[in-house]
Amino acid sequence: MKFNFKKKFGQNFITDKNLLKSICLDADIHATDEVLEIGAGMGALTSALCQEAKKVVAYEIDQELKPHLQALEPQNLVLHFEDALKKPLAQIESDFEGCYKLVANLPYYITTPLIFKFLQSTLVDSITIMVQKEVGERIVAQFGGKDYGALSVCCQYFGKPKIMRKVPKSVFTPQPDVDSCIVRLDIEKRYDENAANFFQVVRMCFKSRRKTLLNNLAEGLGVEKSTLSGLGFDLNRRAEQLSPTQFEQLTLLLKDYLGQDKIVPMLQ
Ligand code: SAH
Repeated sequence: MKFNFKKKFGQNFITDKNLLKSICLDADIHATDEVLEIGAGMGALTSALCQEAKKVVAYEIDQELKPHLQALEPQNLVLHFEDALKKPLAQIESDFEGCYKLVANLPYYITTPLIFKFLQSTLVDSITIMVQKEVGERIVAQFGGKDYGALSVCCQYFGKPKIMRKVPKSVFTPQPDVDSCIVRLDIEKRYDENAANFFQVVRMCFKSRRKTLLNNLAEGLGVEKSTLSGLGFDLNRRAEQLSPTQFEQLTLLLKDYLGQDKIVPMLQ
């Protein structure tokens, strides 16, 4: 089979059959599940998912892969040849009857935007993705360390992300430069207005890691530092010192203090 791998699309295909089975196990796919797969490639993982799930909706950006994917047999497969990052969430989700599980082995440069996009879904039940080893470590990092950042806090707000397995670069064709791991996050809380505020507060607080919360928040919110002195929260710390729960408290305090209707547009 002749195919020119495209670096710009981050094409590193899985060739190890055992790994494909393991990913289905890691994602906890059952016969009643609807699954969204992003970055189908030649369909290796797609086929494995179709065997386990009720329905699989798969996205692939590279039109050259169309004949390969359309040749796949499964009746329970829906294919879209589009950029899943650009397509609005509501349109992606209109293919599903209810909640669904997201599974992806994707180019590493879109991992973070993809995670943030799907954390804003109210229908996704779990996210199982192959990520660069270092990104996996950042997702599960505890507060206080250098790996802890906005990605860790936002993922941990929704549940307890877990590294399911380490994956050596040798299982991919072509072989990437870095090792990988599979991370799963079960969504225990639904995205709502509080979560939207939380995201914005976290983003502002980590804008400049070396600055205190006070400096980052005053700048991000466009208020005088003195305005925030009555908040009742120690803002002389840095973002990496706050647990996800403390960020939640901070978000609620800011909302009460600055006004419910004021904070949402201000933070956006
Ligand atoms: N899942 C397959 C392929 C992994 S390579 C496997 O495990 O073997 C990643 C795939 O994602 C590539 O085929 C690439 O073309 C596709 N891709 C990259 N960006 C994408 C995007 N924004 N939307 C949909 N697919 C994308």
